[in-house]
Amino acid sequence: MNDIPKDAIKCLDKGFVRLVDSMGGDNAIVQAARVSYGKGTSKVSQDRGLIRYLMRHRHTTPFEMVEFKYHCKMPIFVARQWVRHRTANINEYSLRYSEARDEFYYPDPENIQFQSALNKQGRLGEVSDKLKKKVSEYFKEISDRSFEIYSELNSAGVARELARAVLPVNLYTEWYWKNDLHNLLHFIGLRSDNHAQYEIRVFSDAMAKSVKKVAPFAWEAYQDYVVSGLRFSRVERGILEKNLPKRVIEDLLEDLAYQITASLHHNKPRTDKDLFPLYTKQEGSDSKGDFFLKWSSGEIQPGNVRELREFKIKLKRLMK
Ligand SMILES: Cc1cc2nc3c(=O)[nH]c(=O)nc-3n(C[C@H](O)[C@H](O)[C@H](O)COP(=O)(O)OP(=O)(O)OC[C@H]3O[C@@H](n4cnc5c(N)ncnc54)[C@H](O)[C@@H]3O)c2cc1C
Repeated sequence: MNDIPKDAIKCLDKGFVRLVDSMGGDNAIVQAARVSYGKGTSKVSQDRGLIRYLMRHRHTTPFEMVEFKYHCKMPIFVARQWVRHRTANINEYSLRYSEARDEFYYPDPENIQFQSALNKQGRLGEVSDKLKKKVSEYFKEISDRSFEIYSELNSAGVARELARAVLPVNLYTEWYWKNDLHNLLHFIGLRSDNHAQYEIRVFSDAMAKSVKKVAPFAWEAYQDYVVSGLRFSRVERGILEKNLPKRVIEDLLEDLAYQITASLHHNKPRTDKDLFPLYTKQEGSDSKGDFFLKWSSGEIQPGNVRELREFKIKLKRLMK
């Protein structure tokens, strides 16, 4: 029980995350989505596009068709945070039924820091070696002593469900944890973020590795649209609408006209004579001469046409 299983990712000093099983992957998302969108096409590039579309528009239920089951071992104080994610199915090691094991979390000296003055839920700053040593000794002392008392109560026949109450929250626990991809991504989004506590981040990062393998397109889309995406509140948008110079928006729109043209050309190559009309159709305003000068001067990154057009609409809305 004390050993870390071979196929697990070690987390902290004695914990781990092990993917026990998974059901489906990117295919399952596409398959479910096509029930609502009709048969459509099934090329890999189109699957990726569809997954990105679903993520962008927060059409989330297809992502719930993919399931992950993990076996995890973590300190109780990490489990306390983890269990707040209510959509999971959990089965935990029972200290009513089984005896506690002498397995406590001892932080690495490099993770012993001061309370952050800026972030009430964070740590910051270098602690002296002397204080680090003291912290480590206290962790050890309290863990050893509480386990001694626990064992004594256990030997005296006191009910395990009561005796366990003397154990501190750095004791390790274990569980099976099952969730769907939509909610797992939500979990990772919150718990791999640098606002989350280091000790849970380690586990979340470990789980992220399996998500990346099982559903790479969904993972990529989540990073692009949720983790790296920006949403503006009404106040923020108001400030942008008021203060963003018209010429900046016009420059961006012009740039988009090139990118949409490049994307359409990338998807279905056109002859030179068809390029400029295609560009003007995208509301590009450069002259033919300027167009060809810019077109041949450097790389224009193709993107997703629909996404670029949506961005164009958003930009236009900012022009009051
Ligand atoms: C950095 C950080 C700091 C935190 N600090 C604190 C703290 O100080 N104190 C504290 O108590 N908690 C704290 N939390 C926990 C936090 O408030 C959430 O409980 C936790 O992140 C789970 O989020 P969730 O409810 O979105 O996730 P889940 O429970 O997994 O739910 C996923 C989604 O399902 C929906 N959902 C699930 N259950 C319901 C329901 N019953 N009703 C309506 N919708 C539901 C919601 O849309 C939800 O977003 C913190 C979390 C983080 C990441």
